Amino acid sequence: MTDVVIRGLRVLTPEGVHAAAIHVAEGRIARVSAFDDVPSSASLVEAGEALVFPGLVDTHVHVNEPGRTEWEGFATATRAAAAGGVTTLLDMPLNSIPPTTNVAALEVKRAAALGRCAVDTGFLGGLIPGNAAELAPLHLAGVFGFKCFLCPSGVAEFPPVSPRDMHEAAPSLAALDALLMVHAEWPPALEHAAGASGDPRSYATWLAGRPVTAETDAVRFLIGFAREWGLRVHVVHVSASETLELIAAARAEGVRMTAETCPHYLGFAAEEIPDGATEFKCAPPIREARHREELWEALARDQLDAVVSDHSPVPAAMKLREEGDFLRAWGGIASLQLRLPAIWTGARARGYPPERLAAWLCAGPARLAGLTGRKGVIAAGHDADLVLWHPEKEFVVNDTILRQRHPITPWLGRTLAGVVEATYLRGELAYACGAADQPARGRLLTRLDS
Ligand SMILES: [Zn+2]
Repeated sequence: MTDVVIRGLRVLTPEGVHAAAIHVAEGRIARVSAFDDVPSSASLVEAGEALVFPGLVDTHVHVNEPGRTEWEGFATATRAAAAGGVTTLLDMPLNSIPPTTNVAALEVKRAAALGRCAVDTGFLGGLIPGNAAELAPLHLAGVFGFKCFLCPSGVAEFPPVSPRDMHEAAPSLAALDALLMVHAEWPPALEHAAGASGDPRSYATWLAGRPVTAETDAVRFLIGFAREWGLRVHVVHVSASETLELIAAARAEGVRMTAETCPHYLGFAAEEIPDGATEFKCAPPIREARHREELWEALARDQLDAVVSDHSPVPAAMKLREEGDFLRAWGGIASLQLRLPAIWTGARARGYPPERLAAWLCAGPARLAGLTGRKGVIAAGHDADLVLWHPEKEFVVNDTILRQRHPITPWLGRTLAGVVEATYLRGELAYACGAADQPARGRLLTRLDS
């Protein structure tokens, strides 16, 4: 029995963009039919000219609750997600207190999230020195994978792992066949670069302190590590073109490496960042334009698996915008709500069609999370997670439209193409442009749900 039919003239399915009717029963897509095939018993949503897209999946979000809810929280982050067409997100294990490094901490986090999420929310566990024995229990409790840092993370309670810590955890990760996501910057290369000094207000100073070699040295280590243990290793936020070649070569020889990049590496370039503009600070840093263009080309060649936000917000004071001190400001960029228009604007300018966008923003991250068959595609059997948006319409990013707790982002003031009209989560409205907030109907996902 179909409960709802959502139909439009431009529906993106694995067959392409065409007129179609999406039949929803009990929150799932029962079938996708011809536009005119609508049972009289079903309630009908007309998408009209809007592009009907799979709900976006974002596997890299720092929600920060509990413990640093003044930075961001489940209610605000997931409303931002819904407004940006995101219907599934995975929360990173760090910046919350406690960090998600054991099952007790996961339960604290799940309790904090329960009833507050406007979109489906799953959790990643953390690998830190000494917690290898916690990985199997976390995996059994349903985390979607593990995250670790090779260099300091920015918060004291989530320390980096050494190669020795990694090898200690490897047998358990291998036994679980768990996904390991790694922040890849190599401490010796960072230490070497730290010798260079400069004006802390100058972007060039920040960039010089986080060189390409820090990323490539880390990725070389990770390739060897993944090869040695047969592990699935995922490089988060790739920033440098040289890294792409290393990962492509490793994949060609069968090493199980995946990789992502983020909107800020695809949308900005170091040459354009004004001195003192600490809203652009993140690690690894936004690099020169040649890296940006090669990241786009790597996406086109399927050398990157996903574009995810790495949404990492803080209160304005921590960005030190008045001092403009790149060395002391918080490193992190918030773009959970803007990923669709930010990437569409860049894709359209380079001639990529919406089908490619769906691979990078929906199906790719769903596959990474192990949610293939359930999320990220408009097809029978999948959750009826949909975003209705207008690729031709443009808007200017301003602080009144942002639903995140603190409306600070380097995207402010930019004109972007791609206006989200409505977001549906399991067939129910999660966001409608210009309407009041919808009830928080998001579920807490685990890796074990079917
Ligand atoms: Zn992150």
